[in-house]
Amino acid sequence: AAKASGRSTYRFYEPEMRLEAERWHQLSAELRDALAKNQFELHYQPIVRLEDDGLAGFEALIRWHHPLRGLVAPTEFIPIAEETGLIVPIGEWVLREACRTAASWPGHLKIAVNLSVSQFRHTSLLSTVVAALDGSGLRPERLEIEITESVFLADVELSLPLLRALKELGIRIAIDDFGTGYSSFSYLRAFAFDKIKLDRSFVAGIESDAGSLAIIRAVVGIGSGFNATTLAEGVETKEQLKRLKQEGFGEVQGYLLGKPMPRAQAEELIYGTALKRRIAVNG
Ligand code: C2E
Ligand code: MG
Ligand code: MG
Ligand code: MG
Repeated sequence: AAKASGRSTYRFYEPEMRLEAERWHQLSAELRDALAKNQFELHYQPIVRLEDDGLAGFEALIRWHHPLRGLVAPTEFIPIAEETGLIVPIGEWVLREACRTAASWPGHLKIAVNLSVSQFRHTSLLSTVVAALDGSGLRPERLEIEITESVFLADVELSLPLLRALKELGIRIAIDDFGTGYSSFSYLRAFAFDKIKLDRSFVAGIESDAGSLAIIRAVVGIGSGFNATTLAEGVETKEQLKRLKQEGFGEVQGYLLGKPMPRAQAEELIYGTALKRRIAVNG
């Protein structure tokens, strides 16, 4: 009986796995042409300062408009891009596009760009970033690079000097998805991050479990101890926002404040807000 069920389990999974492998191969082939075919777009998610409810900037998030499949999530195609090496030209495009867009915005707004760990394995990273800044005229202080701790797990000898070089240019470095990986504390000591982005799983628990609240308080303490801005990801409810404000978080990002949106909509938000503020000041 055990043998039979084992066989049926095998039969059950096998076609599914084959489909997954097929999809992977098709996507990786199609990803190769996606840049040339202009299928990528950046969406921008607002980041709000809690001190004065002001707009601090946006995080750039890539979108792939597939002609047949529709929108493919970055969580699906970024790993394929990483494994195939396509992340290098795609990452270059993201940096150029994000810097170019942000350079046209008011000077107090920052732009955050995600970098994959595999981009750190290429020595071209530094020159790519410098070219994106030079080409757009964006001040380095307005660019924030988001990395996850996997950068430290992979190759510290390579990534630490690169991070230091980026920081010397004046770029700010943020640690993304904080609290979800390994050895969160040792790399905080190894590198002076400018920002800690607490993973949204902790924000989700803020109202219901004491553990999440304890972690949120600890992160506020770490932020002030390391002189790093604290940002909470995935804020979806007013109650979460209220608690984060009470606990002294620096910034928030999440569907409550705005979903990732196309450039035109982000600009409506930028100039709409500015207009409202001017009216408030003058009226
Ligand atoms: P991330 O950098 O942690 O980005 C935050 C993700 O959380 C985004 O998903 C965003 O849409 C989502 N999010 C924001 N607020 C909320 C909320 O209130 N609730 C929920 N449930 N989700 C929220 P997205 O855009 O699908 O991106 C997923 C991941 O893909 C990113 O996670 C990042 O790791 C990666 N990624 C996106 N764009 C790029 C890129 O240009 N380059 C690289 N290397 N990775 C990217
Ligand atoms: Mg991010
Ligand atoms: Mg994140
Ligand atoms: Mg994430």
